[in-house]
Amino acid sequence: MEFNTAGLISLQDALDKMRAHTPAKTEEDVESLPLAAAAGRITAAPVRSPVFVPPFDNSAMDGYALRTTDLHDGAVFPVAGKAFAGVPFHGEWPAGSCIRIMTGAPVPPGADAVIMQEQTEVTDAGVRLTASVRPGQNIRLIGDDIKQGDSVLAQGVRLGAAELPLLASLGVEHVDVYKPLKVAIFSTGDELQPVGTPLQEGQIYDTNRFAVRLMLEQIGCTVLDLGIIRDDPQALRAAFEQANDFADLVISSGGVSVGEADYTKKMLDELGEIGFWKLAIKPGKPFAFGKLKKAWFCGLPGNPVSAALTFYQLVQPFIAGLSGHTSWTMPPRLKAKATTPFNKSPGRLDFQRGIFSTSASGELEVRTTGHQGSHVFSSFSQANCFVVLERERDRVSAGELVDVEPFNALLRS
Ligand code: AMP
Ligand code: MG
Repeated sequence: MEFNTAGLISLQDALDKMRAHTPAKTEEDVESLPLAAAAGRITAAPVRSPVFVPPFDNSAMDGYALRTTDLHDGAVFPVAGKAFAGVPFHGEWPAGSCIRIMTGAPVPPGADAVIMQEQTEVTDAGVRLTASVRPGQNIRLIGDDIKQGDSVLAQGVRLGAAELPLLASLGVEHVDVYKPLKVAIFSTGDELQPVGTPLQEGQIYDTNRFAVRLMLEQIGCTVLDLGIIRDDPQALRAAFEQANDFADLVISSGGVSVGEADYTKKMLDELGEIGFWKLAIKPGKPFAFGKLKKAWFCGLPGNPVSAALTFYQLVQPFIAGLSGHTSWTMPPRLKAKATTPFNKSPGRLDFQRGIFSTSASGELEVRTTGHQGSHVFSSFSQANCFVVLERERDRVSAGELVDVEPFNALLRS
């Protein structure tokens, strides 16, 4: 593995390097699950329809089914029977008669048109048509929507509220999906305490495991949370070894910069093939990526905004690749008019937190959440988007156009 450690690397280069390491899925990664247990999983093969949809010719209207060969001027059709949705008509129906039919009911054999009831007059003698009818009219043909054997979902699609009901509508009972990715996480830092422990002088609460764990669970990963690891080489080595044994991917936070207590780098030189990058993005400059003995590794920066941002922009796409989620895409970027200034100096691609909305005149507008420090996590909860400011861009004045990237479900539900 080769890493460019000289200077800053761009987000795109980092993404490309990570993506280049995405291994192909094998049969061992696949399991077959009942539909009800497959929510959030990724399809391991195209899903083909076992049935035709609709499964039989049926009426698109409430009206009367007839044979168009029986049509002639002044024809009156006696009603020979009824067909309801779920209750087909099976009897004889003599030439020149019609069948009362409801929407969704199977079209009786021989009928080749349905006239809607609004285009008829019903008398004691039968039904008279008040409009012309052509063969095939108001009949939804078998397989109109989906043919048996058609691929209805591609490989690499996440099964959500749009996909599972579709499969249910086809009577699909089992679906081949990838096993969930196993991810081990921990935070590093002598100053960190878990929620529930009073803080001593110089200590802070651990934010990052909450953010990372929740985002991983939303993506559908199985998470092993190893807690807070002290800035101690032995403790770190033990954590990395335990994480590597369990996981496909290990994610740590903190200790990836150049401070005196940043042991992560030293450990990783020993335990794997890891590159340390200085990313040309803000926040989130220090980031580590590579491979332990077995598992992949991502080392997030310690500052909570940087950790969440690098997870979102780099780890999320990497996990999509590892998970076989080929249909995954980043949220689109839209142009919006800044209604406040955005502080910036040239040098790094900046992901500021913003609040976008549509103005009364229908224009997309965006304003800053205020303080953009990499420790100001409240900026995420106020925001609904990243304001993406190009690497070379300087301060943005109100009125200028900027790129807005709406948060996806990981950051806002
Ligand atoms: P480090 O990269 O370990 O030097 O951490 C950079 C900054 O982020 C320091 O101010 C740390 O105290 C802080 N930090 C590191 N990990 C966490 C965490 N899990 N939660 C909150 N803050 C953290
Ligand atoms: Mg630290």
